[in-house]
Amino acid sequence: MCLSHGNIARRSVLAAGLALPLAAVTGTAEAAPAGPFAIVGARIFDGRRVIECGTVVVDAGRIVAVHEGAVHEGAGPRGLPVHDGRGKTLLPGLIDGHVHHTGPDRTDAPRFGVTTELDMVSDPAAHGPIRRQRRSYAPTPLSDLWTAGWWATVPGGWGTDSGLVFPLMEPGTDPAEFVAARQAEGSDHLKLALEDVHLITGARIPVLSETQVRGLIAAAKRHRMPSVAHATRQDMARTALSAGITGLVHLFSDAEIADDVVRLAVRGGAFVTPTLTLWSALGSLQNPATKSVITDPRVAPFLSAKQRGFLDAPWGFERPGVLETASRNVAKLHAAGVPITAGTDSGIPGIAHGVSLLVELELLVRAGLAPVEALAAATSTPASHYGFTDRGRIARGLRADLVLVDGDPTRDITALRDVSAVWRNGAPVTRAV
Ligand SMILES: [Zn+2]
Repeated sequence: MCLSHGNIARRSVLAAGLALPLAAVTGTAEAAPAGPFAIVGARIFDGRRVIECGTVVVDAGRIVAVHEGAVHEGAGPRGLPVHDGRGKTLLPGLIDGHVHHTGPDRTDAPRFGVTTELDMVSDPAAHGPIRRQRRSYAPTPLSDLWTAGWWATVPGGWGTDSGLVFPLMEPGTDPAEFVAARQAEGSDHLKLALEDVHLITGARIPVLSETQVRGLIAAAKRHRMPSVAHATRQDMARTALSAGITGLVHLFSDAEIADDVVRLAVRGGAFVTPTLTLWSALGSLQNPATKSVITDPRVAPFLSAKQRGFLDAPWGFERPGVLETASRNVAKLHAAGVPITAGTDSGIPGIAHGVSLLVELELLVRAGLAPVEALAAATSTPASHYGFTDRGRIARGLRADLVLVDGDPTRDITALRDVSAVWRNGAPVTRAV
């Protein structure tokens, strides 16, 4: 029981020189002001472990205190507005490890608790505002972005028919110069496109050679940039892993994962972002995993027209079995200790910002992750692999990107559908659309 007359709270809360009348705990149910305020009496998943009952104090966009233990009558942060967390679970703002968009309207993700997104291709013209925003602690309804900038592909390769004009890895291009140019443009990570569209059209297109892949990954390492690969075939993933890629931002579904590929991932310390949501959308026109989430009355009223537009867009074909194969591959990697991070590929048909990360986490649990492992896959795990020091956990000094949900997603991941409140930089996010 979170609210009690125990002594733990008196010790821990008073240690911070704060005192809160119990009456205040029952007071405010609405979103609290930008700060200071306290979220009291919630179960806390801090990104790594579960605190069954605690209090989090927020001020000026940051978490200023985390107290473990039950709230004691007469003890608490004196005079602070209080958000009642009883019966609820507080989580770090979620991180979507694979999205597409750099536009100014990024409100869809935070309304579902996704406060940070990792974009996987962008025009460098957008990089300045994106960087300024993520350094700021001012209230904002927008997600924070990290971006790949232009990805590495070859003439006639993946993305070259998009209408965009961008630098390519020509046969004579020096990989070191290519990576240096991306870093100078403000790319946060280097994205390698290893895609021959075998799943989409069956007609193969050119891809980066093994020599180019090795050169690009080695150059990214020298520039201290994470390198990530879009690889939808096992042989391409094997090449990237053997060259020392930081992470795979899809998990292939063309084959059962081979033992040597698992070993390469383990030995290289690579993380894997499976994007099961994508495989679910490609595997079946019915896409039951997404349907069950977006028709849930706890979710449906909060979907914007833009989200519905993506979710209702048809692929027009299906590739039965890809979700099942990718899910078995997740299970093998997870059992071998390979870090799994959650990502959706939002910004393409069948997948929408924010809400689709809830689908991804449910699919990761179905693939064999425990609910707390799935929650770590969307918080502390990507934060550590991408080097984020201000987010991904609930701890003193970190950015106050927080999600409060009804129920206990550390036991039942579907509780994430029941978002009660979201804060970006300590300011409440409006969920209504
Ligand atoms: Zn993508």
